[in-house]
Amino acid sequence: MNVLNIALQMLSSHSLCDSCLGRQFALLGNIPENVFKSKNLSPNACRGFSLKMTLTLQDHLTYDLGSKDEGIKSLKILAENGNFEPARETLTMLGKNFDQTSRICYLCDGKIELNSEHAEKAIASLTSYEFETFLCGSVIPIHLKEREDELRSKFNIKWGEALKSEINRETGKMIAKITGKQADLANPDVATIIDIESGQISTSINPLFIYGRYRKLIRGIPQSKWPCKCEGIGCSVCNWTGKKYAISVEELITTPILELTDAKDAKFHGSGREDIDARMLGKGRPFIVEIKEPKRRKLNLMDLENRIRDYANGKVEVTQLKFTKKDMVRKIKAISQHAEKIYKCSIRVDRDISLEDVEKIKKELTNATIQQRTPLRVSHRRVDKIRMKKIHDIDAKIDGNLMELVIRCDGGLYIKELISGDGGRTTPSISELLSASAECLELDVLEVQLD
Ligand SMILES: [Zn+2]
Ligand SMILES: [Zn+2]
Repeated sequence: MNVLNIALQMLSSHSLCDSCLGRQFALLGNIPENVFKSKNLSPNACRGFSLKMTLTLQDHLTYDLGSKDEGIKSLKILAENGNFEPARETLTMLGKNFDQTSRICYLCDGKIELNSEHAEKAIASLTSYEFETFLCGSVIPIHLKEREDELRSKFNIKWGEALKSEINRETGKMIAKITGKQADLANPDVATIIDIESGQISTSINPLFIYGRYRKLIRGIPQSKWPCKCEGIGCSVCNWTGKKYAISVEELITTPILELTDAKDAKFHGSGREDIDARMLGKGRPFIVEIKEPKRRKLNLMDLENRIRDYANGKVEVTQLKFTKKDMVRKIKAISQHAEKIYKCSIRVDRDISLEDVEKIKKELTNATIQQRTPLRVSHRRVDKIRMKKIHDIDAKIDGNLMELVIRCDGGLYIKELISGDGGRTTPSISELLSASAECLELDVLEVQLD
């Protein structure tokens, strides 16, 4: 086997540019980036150029040593199918004719020459977006892939690289050089896809994820946007707002974020949720905001916390904001089901409560396992089943027929039903233990324990 023979054979059947010829030997030789730097040649173009150059010298020597026809025949292949300037000059010097039309490369249709043009277009398509990392991809027409496969099998090429990976890498290098940003295949801020056939560029701006904890300081607001039954169209029930609740934790947090990032949309992911009429206090509940197509992503998160505090005006606060990754969304959602919670609730019982009652509640419910069938009030959206949830700790203060409980329990225990008994669906319950009707007046979440 001889690389020069294979190269000449390939050229004798097809027109090939330097890059496409060199790419068939991409795994041979390790060519540093700075070789041919002044000519801006890629490593594969460097391989192809060198093969053509060596063949030109060899053919000239063959000619000089007397095998004139053989030498000229090969030089013509290099001059015509190889579009190789040194071979053309050598033939001219020897007074030989050749077909001067420049031939389009069979493997890339001349598209590799457009790499820098594509890089500039890709950069232009990203001008309104802030980014630090990018991915450069391409769509290669099928006929070019087929040609390359066919050529490889015909010449039994085992050291080649695909056209697509050369285009992606070389265009990416140009984008990096011009913008100073870094290519990142795994987790880029933005991605740009070049359609090689049409020259069209499409971009996708990857979402930005911000993690934090929110405190909901007032009752009566839902966690997420809650459309009216009119499905947002507006009706007399919702006073033409399209919303069942005027405001939500989600909107209070995402509105300043959308303003700051100039993003297309933002999605709120909570680690579980509290009831609309419950406050969320303590260190707050973890959440992640997924910011879609942000134009700005270099944010000062302390400033953002303040903006949200100002906008939410005492209703909601956020803390511990930090940038995070997409896979954390699944994690905070999954973890909320198991995270221990601490609740504070005020209860009214239909008779006065005694200290004996308190002792009984503490004794029966500390470390107790509660059997809880899906509460009636959520049965329309939750599967009907019996959950076993543990209470770890319970403390109580009484005042006549009122009681304040602090309960540390497994995530997923419905507290209102633990108090009322939900018609026997939750057992044991406060109501059951007191043999009296009991209802939850106010509920606060004091802790969501993730660690
Ligand atoms: Zn080519
Ligand atoms: Zn409505």
